[in-house]
Amino acid sequence: MPAVTSSGLEPVPPAGPRRRVALHWKILIGLLLGAILGIAAHTYFARPHQADTVDALDRDANGVDDRLDWFALQVADPVGRIFLRLVLMVVLPLVVSALALAVVELGDLRRLGRIGLRTLFYTVILSSTAVLIGVTLVNTFQPGHRLGQAKREALAAQYGQGVAETIAKSKSAKSLKDTLLDIIPENPLQEMVGALDGSSKGNGILAVMFFALTIGAALAQVGETGQAAVKVLEGLFAASMKILDWAMRLAPLGVACLVFAMTSRLGGELLVTLAWFVGTTVLGFALQLLVVYPLLLIVVGRRSPGEFFRRISEVMLMAFGTSSSNATLPVSLRVAEEQLGLPPAVSRFVLTVGATGNQNGTALYEGVVVLFLAQVFGVDLTLGQQVMVVLMAVIAGVGTAGIPGGSIPMVVLVLQSVGVPGESIAIILGIDRILDMCRTVLNVTGDLALATCVARE
Ligand code: ASP
Repeated sequence: MPAVTSSGLEPVPPAGPRRRVALHWKILIGLLLGAILGIAAHTYFARPHQADTVDALDRDANGVDDRLDWFALQVADPVGRIFLRLVLMVVLPLVVSALALAVVELGDLRRLGRIGLRTLFYTVILSSTAVLIGVTLVNTFQPGHRLGQAKREALAAQYGQGVAETIAKSKSAKSLKDTLLDIIPENPLQEMVGALDGSSKGNGILAVMFFALTIGAALAQVGETGQAAVKVLEGLFAASMKILDWAMRLAPLGVACLVFAMTSRLGGELLVTLAWFVGTTVLGFALQLLVVYPLLLIVVGRRSPGEFFRRISEVMLMAFGTSSSNATLPVSLRVAEEQLGLPPAVSRFVLTVGATGNQNGTALYEGVVVLFLAQVFGVDLTLGQQVMVVLMAVIAGVGTAGIPGGSIPMVVLVLQSVGVPGESIAIILGIDRILDMCRTVLNVTGDLALATCVARE
């Protein structure tokens, strides 16, 4: 897993007499401002005037004035997209480097034998369970369908020139055999070129992920000879993170503009839809935390879940406060030894690898966001495509950096690959931080539960 030594996407405020507002607060303020101004503009400009014919003609299908429509689409929307384009720009280099480096380290992990294999096994089980819980809940509650049909169409018209094409494409879905074969790319570069707009010949981003994983596995095998390539990947990863950092500084303005562009044309219905999304996600988190982990602890770890949670409460609070698995790692290491009494050889190894590689909360979240936004945009995903989303979310959970907002590039990537415009992430970005706090709690609890189980034998 890539070693992220920086503070992550959130720039650290310099120490000084003037305290700066943290980035996540600015993004939240951006969301609120955009939403309030947007709804106000929508209400004002859609207000039925003394019906004169010119006025009536000036209204478009959304029931808002042409001038507002122009402002939303020609000013607010493009400004917001600058930020998103910067994020998109680094998605591919980030995915290739992060996943390849993750496997290089997992290669070392295999050398450790049983511990490594058990860690890998439980990581896959825990992340898959988490994603399945999330996907089942989104399919049950359909939070994205809370938005009326007309509004959904307006949103799709605004954002996705490609949405209609993808919907059409998804109807002519490939056979299972071809879908699976296409995961192995004939031409990785071609897959990369088409990965973001769905125009690749094979399986797009999943094929790129496969390529990165294979390169990582091979590099782990060749050892010294591959060191130069590993260094290049590390450099690429660090540079991509830096660019992402710059992009995130534009996030408050970007989110304000994008949300304004949406709410001014669609009204407040979108926010109600968002509340459903938050509810569904939190329910998923709760199930993983209060059902899956306790079951694992009882059956495999042979430990009382109540006592386990009491002993690790400090770690959970730290994760909640920092939204970063990496920042929580030192506390996790101490608690594992002092409070849980796990053997250091096991806990140090599992927790360090798990901080980036075992992110169950993140995997769950990534699955939920993608299906939710697909519902909002009326992209009907076939069962096969949903399986792909599950797979990608599990892999993305491995490649996501353990820092605040680390999963954002991965979410954009998976969105694009199923034909949902990446820009739509703006809908959830304003409330991402609070969900980030929750999913990070899950991530680190999962790591400690994993370490407890691995230490059992
Ligand atoms: N903040 C998460 C973590 O550090 C990663 C993410 O889901 O964004 O574990």
